[in-house]
Parts: sequence; C-alpha cells; structure tokens
Amino acid sequence: MSNYNNIRNFGIIAHIDAGKTTTTERILYLTGTSYKIGEVDEGTTITDWMEQERERGITITSAAVSCNWKDSIMHIIDTPGHVDFTAEVQRSLRVLDGAVVVFCGVGGVQTQSETVWKQADKYNIPRIVYINKLDRTGADFENVLNEITDKLKAQPLPISIPYYENDVLSGTIDLIVMKLIKFKNDGNIDQAFDIPDNIKEKANKYRENLINILTNYDDALLEFALQEKMSKDDITKSIRTGTLNRKFIPVISGSSLKNIGVPPLLDAITNYLPSPDDIASIDGYYIKKDKWDKIFFKSDAPPVVYVFKVQYHREKGIIAFVRLYSGKINNGDSLYNPRLKKKERIQDLLRVYADKYERLDTSESGDIVAITGMKNVLTGDTLCSEGHQVILESLTFPEPVIFMSIEPKNTVDKEKFDTACSNLLLEDPTITLKEDSQTGQTLIGGMGELHIHIFLDRIKKGYNVELKTGNPHVAYRETPIKEGLLEYNFDKKIEGNVQHAGIKLKVTPNERNTDNKIISNLDRKYRELIPHIEKGITEALKSGPEGAYPVIDCTITIESVNYDQSRSSPIAVEAASNLCTSGLLREVGTFLLEPIMKLEIDLPAEFTGSVIGELQSRGGMVLDIHKKITEEIITAKAPLKQMFGYTTNLRSITQGKGSFTMEFLYYDKP
Ligand code: GDP
Repeated sequence: MSNYNNIRNFGIIAHIDAGKTTTTERILYLTGTSYKIGEVDEGTTITDWMEQERERGITITSAAVSCNWKDSIMHIIDTPGHVDFTAEVQRSLRVLDGAVVVFCGVGGVQTQSETVWKQADKYNIPRIVYINKLDRTGADFENVLNEITDKLKAQPLPISIPYYENDVLSGTIDLIVMKLIKFKNDGNIDQAFDIPDNIKEKANKYRENLINILTNYDDALLEFALQEKMSKDDITKSIRTGTLNRKFIPVISGSSLKNIGVPPLLDAITNYLPSPDDIASIDGYYIKKDKWDKIFFKSDAPPVVYVFKVQYHREKGIIAFVRLYSGKINNGDSLYNPRLKKKERIQDLLRVYADKYERLDTSESGDIVAITGMKNVLTGDTLCSEGHQVILESLTFPEPVIFMSIEPKNTVDKEKFDTACSNLLLEDPTITLKEDSQTGQTLIGGMGELHIHIFLDRIKKGYNVELKTGNPHVAYRETPIKEGLLEYNFDKKIEGNVQHAGIKLKVTPNERNTDNKIISNLDRKYRELIPHIEKGITEALKSGPEGAYPVIDCTITIESVNYDQSRSSPIAVEAASNLCTSGLLREVGTFLLEPIMKLEIDLPAEFTGSVIGELQSRGGMVLDIHKKITEEIITAKAPLKQMFGYTTNLRSITQGKGSFTMEFLYYDKP
C-alpha cells in the first residue's frame, strides 16, 4: 500500500465545446485552487493558459493540475478536446487511473467522444459521465443516456437527474439520498430539500432503476435491500465496486456554467473513481532479468517514475511531468534513465497548481508531480534507480498526415527559430521536422492543419519569430503494385573486413489498411538473425521508391539467407535485408495512397444543403445526417488534400455558425 490511497489521478475527456474547460474551472474554484471563477468566453481560465488556447477557446496541451477536495488529493490530467491532438489524449490516458467524460446535454455522444471512449476501453479505465449544459434549451438527459447505451455499448447508471422549475434548471435530484439539491451562486451546495411532488414519480423510477442495476451485480446489497436495511454507504460502496470493475458508468447531471452539480461531481470522483491502490500494479520490463513482470505500487520499493509530458518553461527550463508508480523520490535525488544509460539530478520537485508551483521535499508512489533540472529527459522515458533498472512500455505516436515548409522570414532569426523548434518539439512528439531531400527546405509534419498552425503560432508569439511557410501538403503512403521475389548478395568492407551476406525476400501486397507483416520461412538455426533481418526490412519500408513515403499494406517473406560464420556478420545481414527490400520494391513498383478523413460537421439545419453541395464538389461523401433540435450533424468522409482551408469555407457558408472536427480514417488510392 502507498500512503496515497486518497489520491485521484483522473482526466476530463470531452468533445470540443461540451464544457470541459468550464467544468475544470469550477472544480478549481470549488477546491480553493483559484479564487475567481474563470470564464472561457472572457479568456481568463487557468487551464487554457496558452495564448493560442485563449484565442481559440480550446484546450490543447495536457497540463497536470492538482487540487484538494475534502480528504482527497486530486490530480487532473487535462486532455485536449480536438481530434488533431489525439496522441495527447493517449499519452494522458496512460497515467490516468480514472476519467470523467463530459457530454453536452444537447449534443450528446458525438463521434469524437466515441473515439476517445474506445481508447479509454483499451486502457481499461473506469469512468463516470457528467452530462453538462442541462440548462440549455433542447437539453435531453434521457436521450444522452440512450446514446451511451446505443453508441458506446455501456450501461449508464444515473445517480442524479436534473430538476427544472418553470423550465429553468434549478437543481439536481440525488438518487442516493433521494433529495433535491440546490446550489449557491458560487456553485457550492446550498441546501437539500424533500423531492417536490411534480418529479417524485420520475425520481422513484430512476431510484428503482439504480437499485435494480446495482443488485444485479451485488448480492450483499440485494440482501440489504430485501431486509430494507440498505444504507447510503452500502449504495456508495456498491457503485464504487461496479464502477471499478467497469460494470456500469455512474452518470451525474449538471450545468457548470450555471454552477449546478459540480460538488456532487467532485464527490463522485472521490467515491467512485479508483485510487492508485485500486490499480495496484503495472507491467514493466526488468532490464537485468530481461523479462516483463509486475511493478507493484509501493512506497517502500525502488523508484519507478514515468515521464508523461515534457514542457519547456522560460524560467525553470525543462519541466517533466511524472507519475510515480513505485518508490519514493526526494528533492535533490538523482534518477537513472535507462534510455540514456545515465543519471540526472532532480533540481526541484514541484506540485503544479496550473499557474503556481509548490516546492515539495518528497513524493511517493501514486503521486503526480513535476521535476526540473533534467536536461535530456523525453516524453515516454522511465526513470528509476541504477541498481533496479526498469522500463515501462513507451508510447507509439502516429506518423504525420500533413507537411508544410517552414523557415524564418529574416535570416537573423535563424538561431531563435532553431531554439524555438527544439524547445517545442520536446513537448509534442507528434510534430516532426525534417529536411526535404529535393529542395533542402525544412518541413514540419503534424496531425492536421490546426495542429501545425498552433505550433507555428507558438513559435511566432512565444519566440517573436516571423515565419515564411509553404502550402500544406499531404503525407502519402506507398504500397507495392504486385508480388515479386529478389535475391540480393551483399559484399562490402565493414570495419576493415569484406563482409558477405545473401538474402532472398518476397513481397506480397496485402488488403488495404492492414499492418505490414514480416514472415520467416528460415530454418530455426537462423533464428538469431531474424531481428537483424527485420530491422533492415523495417528501415527500408520507411521510404518507398515512388516518393520516399512510408510503404504500407504489404507482407515481406524471408525465403532464404546465405550466412557464413567466417565471412558474415549480423550487420551485413541487416544491410543485405535493407538493400534487398528497397531493390524489390523498385522492381515491383509502388503506387501512392492518400489519407481519407472522417468529418463531423455541426451546423444549423438551414445550411445543410449548401454545405453538402460544397463538400461533394471537394470529393467528399456524406455518410449520415443526424437531426438534433435546430441543429444537424453531418458525418462524411473526404480525401485530406481536398480539405485544406475547409475551416474558412465552412465559416463563410454557415455565417460562422458551423464547426467541424476531422480525424484520420484510412489510406486509399487517390
Ligand atoms: P470545452 O471546449 O469542452 O473546453 O468547452 P468550454 O468549457 O470552453 O465551453 C464551451 C462553451 O460552452 C462556452 O461558451 C461555455 O461558456 C459554454 N458552456 C459550458 N458549460 C455550459 C453549461 O453548463 N451551460 C451552457 N449553457 N453553456 C455552457
């Protein structure tokens, strides 16, 4: 056990505009972290501290924010609301123990939330749902519950429902204590009242539903219910167990903007989301033992610290946001980084409150803190002790889908530009910089236009560098046209000796959008060579013959190898495999594949016709049109290259009232 069973490490996940920022602000206010309620619309919020976010009103970079609620220490790992930044979402999910998913009472479960929901399923993360914006005209609590069942295939467990007086949201009905809860203007709980007659029947039905679902899973509670001895604590305990085992999703109602429902949300986070002790262990690779095994969350064990975010701070330099999975660290300690095979010293151990830092002497298993002073640390690194070397599974980041050329407008700014790029690249592993082999220009790659624009903005504003940029272009993929076979013999001088290795490879095109596969037909006696052959092949597949794009959707079969102990070496085999793969791809030829994107366009119904017309002229295809009160949601797919500049067009067609999100679907022939 750690000393931190009152810790809640959680994230707030939401479709853009569902109210994540507003809800976070209310949480920070009610937990005493900020003294003034921040309003998104006024651009004064704490978590959206970057200027670009203030302007666009969206949260981009995961910032870990700490606060205290009753006896709990809460670490909120902020997750971005825009699909362009899903890698950021993934990285946050890695360190979370639980999540609050915010849905809009009108918009309900939108595609983007479905994507993130699936990711959270993958990481087995217990969740609670907060249905926000229930004050809005057209809000439909029950409809959102149905969408949770239908679209997310999850069992909602409403534990509070909205209460309206003369059609105005005025409180929530707590289905555990069966009371109407009203809130003060600042969001704190005002008073609990008896349930008014006009909603009694509905509340009773919801309460019955709650107990039915719980007793389905919990025999002890069923026993108490039958004996009519069921207490509030029994119900809370039962909800906690079912939530942690992912049997159902507690659902809470509210309106953050109107300061209704946030304290019950904070109680639900404490009562139902896991503490690090509930998770208890994580898998790690023990370097010296050369095997994967469990790492238990214990304070009296060697340190295992995972770096989930690196940020550059003007005064403090590099700040690493870390989660301690095991052990204890003190200010001034040195930690070993297996990737670098060296130790770095903690200069400052900090608790981060969004806009201020508190210096800590020590931190233990389960905690989330920030460390300064480590110059070479990267997102995804594990820090440990030299005598007990462990690595936690690192993150894999998606390859960029668009590129753009970029350079400083004035050559005198070159140095500033380079510093800006290296500091900012440190923070976002999904941005890449590379040199165009034909033009020598610097190319920036990212997950979408918005992603790249934000990065450029940060260079311009944060470092005062004017930039010259080219048009965005698509990052294509290549795939082999047909099957082929090639034998290649490598004979070259390596480290003074002529080395020989021969290899015969076959390439076969796969179905569209399947992973590359490498199959070996070699005799078992060559099994130690296979990692070297695979390395050579994988490296060659990174750059196809048609346009130096990554090669996908193919199988490479290793047919035979010519290896002679006296004249060959693993390096020669790797080189032969690499050159054989490149030669084979040149021989069979490749064609280009382009990214096809899925769009979700939210707009007032009156513009649907013109938006669809314009979309079709771009080669887009409408997949679904979904009506929601006065709005419609169009789901469509379109080639990415046709979608450049779509933000501006959509705005002008819909008089600024339409918005859209776009995410990668698959690659296809142009
Ligand atoms: P985010 O993109 O999920 O972070 O959403 P924001 O918190 O930035 O909210 C988006 C917009 O919805 C802002 O204009 C908010 O003022 C508004 N909003 C947030 N919560 C509520 C709510 O409970 N009711 C209403 N009516 N508006 C809200």
